[in-house]
Amino acid sequence: MKEITKKYSNGEVIVIWKPSICKHSTICWKEATGLPEVFNPSKHPWITPEQSTTDKIVEQVKKCPSGALSYFMTEEARK
Ligand code: SF4
Repeated sequence: MKEITKKYSNGEVIVIWKPSICKHSTICWKEATGLPEVFNPSKHPWITPEQSTTDKIVEQVKKCPSGALSYFMTEEARK
């Protein structure tokens, strides 16, 4: 079975989310530990990278305990 992978971008960074791996730890979207302006499970799409800076997003993605979140930089950001 093919794993579902969702991608969300602000033009600089592409956030990858793998729902089957997500442990719903709440770390990425709770106010105390997360970046709720970007990660908000009550919205659709639930990840909106255009709401914050690339640095903050990368920092948050690295805190995901399950590995459900990952990222890569776009070609545009490398110029
Ligand atoms: S931090 Fe990772 S495991 Fe936790 S809810 Fe967010 S994506 Fe899922």
